[in-house]
Amino acid sequence: MYDINEVRNDFPILSRTVYGKPLVYFDNGATTQKPRCVVESIVNEYYSVNANVHRGVHFLSQQATELHEASRETVRRFINARSISEIVFTRGTTESINLVASSFVGSQMKAGDEVIVSVMEHHSNIVPWQLQAERSGISLKVIPMNDRGELLLDEYERLFSERTRMVSVTHVSNVLGTINPVRKIIDVAHAHGVPVLIDGAQSIPHMPVDVQELDADFYVFSGHKVYGPTGIGVLYGKEDWLDRLPPYQGGGEMIQNVSFEKTTFNELPFKFEAGTPDYIGSTALAKAIDYVSAIGMDQIASYEHELTVYAMSRLKEIPGMRILGEADHKSGVISFLVGNIHHFDMGTLLDRLGIAVRTGHHCAEPLMRRMGVEGTVRASLGLYNTKEEVDALVAGVERVSRMFD
Ligand code: PMP
Repeated sequence: MYDINEVRNDFPILSRTVYGKPLVYFDNGATTQKPRCVVESIVNEYYSVNANVHRGVHFLSQQATELHEASRETVRRFINARSISEIVFTRGTTESINLVASSFVGSQMKAGDEVIVSVMEHHSNIVPWQLQAERSGISLKVIPMNDRGELLLDEYERLFSERTRMVSVTHVSNVLGTINPVRKIIDVAHAHGVPVLIDGAQSIPHMPVDVQELDADFYVFSGHKVYGPTGIGVLYGKEDWLDRLPPYQGGGEMIQNVSFEKTTFNELPFKFEAGTPDYIGSTALAKAIDYVSAIGMDQIASYEHELTVYAMSRLKEIPGMRILGEADHKSGVISFLVGNIHHFDMGTLLDRLGIAVRTGHHCAEPLMRRMGVEGTVRASLGLYNTKEEVDALVAGVERVSRMFD
């Protein structure tokens, strides 16, 4: 197991106070804090390398290009993609899904065709498909779940029809923490000849992911949730699919030749990367990936699992506690409500104790409706959280509960 104190020292923000109290940061599902090496990478690259990539003959441009392309290789290795052609840099999970939805629906689907999503999707894996549905007359089918927050695989299989063209589901729920059996979901879809997009926003920071082992056709995630910077994310796509899909946005970098009569497009992955890429962000993302890889994704997964089990059992001791999401396979995302206390009140009062949690619908309104709640309090763990912080959370929730007694 890794040395938690050593790790915490890598994250300067964790030693700050808020309202005079030590910060207890449990909003990692929204975004993670950054280790020093990531922040330093951004500063150093701006100070000593900064130049636009891919088209410069000069030294700095070549060095920046090398860093940017080396980062692509780091991402490839991290998720075990076959080739760097399969790694497209985007702004994040949201843009990656919009890219696939737009290019896939536009080229592979017709009115009446169907996309399968699940009831526990983040809005960013619902709305991009709905925007396409309005344009193209396609429709969405929704995989239901049980009260523990597990997808019903039998129902899933029944959703397939002659018109199913895509399955797009989250690996881990950002509200319930459910780890979905994505390998099984992918196998079922492939048996019907249908490709699968996996939203990896909440899985990539917490467990090893091997896109070849999963046989995912598309896998997407955000840099800022895996201890990297904001504004950069990844779309992994099987080369065969990316080859078949048309570009998403037009502009510089993504072309081969342009004339007013006809434009030809660059090779993969550049076909999908219009405009100046976030080459500072890609380098910093690679630093974040190096950082978590050095600790070991297996180590992170088992440490966070132990912490989650501890947090679940401690929280359950609190009178009136209702945990939403008790799947057998669950990551460190814990949504809860206590008695009749409004989630917003709980979050606001915890904040005054220095404890950062999230409240509300967590960009998953259909899931809230399924569970019959308006919102929840969500504590989401990261690799640097400790049992002492869980104890502080539990004490904080107890204290707030007593205020409402
Ligand atoms: N999907 C899931 C499961 C998420 O948790 C999030 C972020 N909360 C997103 C997608 C969207 O990520 P981003 O805002 O970084 O694009």
